[in-house]
Amino acid sequence: MDDDDSSLHETPAEFMNAVATLTGRCDGQSVIRGAQGYAVGCSCGWRATAATGVEGLRAAVAHTGDEA
Ligand SMILES: [Zn+2]
Repeated sequence: MDDDDSSLHETPAEFMNAVATLTGRCDGQSVIRGAQGYAVGCSCGWRATAATGVEGLRAAVAHTGDEA
């Protein structure tokens, strides 16, 4: 899990860009680790926070309605 975290840190601008490019649709979600947890974002403008990356991912999946 630490390896995944560091790879996320290597390209934070890319992830922020993906979130900043709002399309108004759920075209892409991102989970970004911040100082106080994880910031979850979607290209539709939806945003949320989560305590862990797994929770953030779960929130993003639930948001798009793809949850099994
Ligand atoms: Zn969305």
